[in-house]
Amino acid sequence: MDQKLLRGIPKVDDLLKEPSVGVLMEKMPAQTVTDAVRTALDGLRREVLAGMRETLPERAALCAQVETLARQAALPSLRGVINGTGVVLHTNLGRACLSRRAAEAARDAAEHYCTLEYDVSAGCRGHRYAHVESLLTRLTGAESALAVNNNAAAVLLILSAMAAGGEVVTSRGELVEIGGSFRIPDIMETCGAKLREVGTTNKTHLSDYEKAIGEDTRALMKVHTSNFRIQGFTESVPLADLTALAHAKGLPVIEDLGSGSLWDLERFGLHDEPTVQSSVAAGVDVVSFSSDKLLGGPQAGIIVGKEQYIDRFRSHPLYRAMRLDKMTLAALEATLRAYSDGTAETEIPTLSMLAAAPETLKMKALRLCALAQEAGVDAEVVPSEDQVGGGSVPTQLLSTFAVAVTPRRVSVDNLEAAMRLRDRPIIGRIAHDRYLLDARTLREDEFACIVQALTESAL
Ligand SMILES: *Cc1c(COP(=O)(O)O)cnc(C)c1O
Repeated sequence: MDQKLLRGIPKVDDLLKEPSVGVLMEKMPAQTVTDAVRTALDGLRREVLAGMRETLPERAALCAQVETLARQAALPSLRGVINGTGVVLHTNLGRACLSRRAAEAARDAAEHYCTLEYDVSAGCRGHRYAHVESLLTRLTGAESALAVNNNAAAVLLILSAMAAGGEVVTSRGELVEIGGSFRIPDIMETCGAKLREVGTTNKTHLSDYEKAIGEDTRALMKVHTSNFRIQGFTESVPLADLTALAHAKGLPVIEDLGSGSLWDLERFGLHDEPTVQSSVAAGVDVVSFSSDKLLGGPQAGIIVGKEQYIDRFRSHPLYRAMRLDKMTLAALEATLRAYSDGTAETEIPTLSMLAAAPETLKMKALRLCALAQEAGVDAEVVPSEDQVGGGSVPTQLLSTFAVAVTPRRVSVDNLEAAMRLRDRPIIGRIAHDRYLLDARTLREDEFACIVQALTESAL
């Protein structure tokens, strides 16, 4: 019986002659269509051999499957999505969205020759980092600045250049794991530095640091516990006290600030997220932070601090291996310019999404909801709460509003999957058996696409 079914499976060439497959051939590369036909037929053959089939599918069904496979294969794997999760810095969805100015700068640098390492006024070779250095020092108050591929690279470079062969004193309460196997103790070891833990998980005093300082000490290090908080009976040493102690002993203080906000988030009702400026003002010698977290720029790691240390990083061999590419540098410069121009909060999507007031988000959700209802979708606006994401301000939630959809004929799980599997994936979440799209991270220009998807999948 299997033999008969097997013989009945069409040949690749037979399917390629089907008119609907011929239409596909005109729309996409022949190889993509042929591969899709092969994949569909291989799958069918396996099902027959495994005894999972008693009949063969209709030709039309087979052709429809070929079309789905070919269309999916033709889509870029890395592509834009519609973020309905409300998480502004969603690490899986690419963290910060660039501002229009930053995206255009990256595109201009990508499409044309550019001034990457060329000094136009002198007509000779220039410096790759000249584009962002003065902006960074002006914005943070630091003497000097440098940018590398990400903050993990920045920490690696700092410790390698400043502490290899010696000890770094760090509070036990700050030995964090950032995710993706980036753990402070392991990083120190990789850099050839010895970790000298002081204090306890919940309390570290200035005297703990003082007692730990010895001949081999190269630096004191603070790590911002970005993705968790220890609450209750806790104590950590104020930065200014730590820098005073270190400087009295002739040692530098290094700080991994993680999110690295240049903006005071108290304005958005978010507490305890220190700014880069405050660390520099407290006398920290070297501060590192991410460019694609609260700063709202492209993926990069920024180091600001005293000239003598930054110069050392510049001449370290690791630095060359961590250098930024022209698109990232262009986007970073444009992002920083928004801060120096005073337009950051309106211009940079990360900041404007975090700044959005609940009433504004409610109006936005109501507009999307009305469009969905007009199209016949069963939807209503509900209050909700968002995390900031990207390991930033982990214990605080922002009030928001979401559009909650109740699908008519499919299950809510099926709706969630159908939205996710579109050419422009729409990422929502399920709560109390409804499908939720959060207003905070949606753009108005995405509404038509969302409503179209809902009418195709939720009715
Ligand atoms: C996020 C984070 C890092 C890693 O930064 P990347 O830019 O993602 O490499 C390092 N340290 C802290 C404290 C962080 O929060």
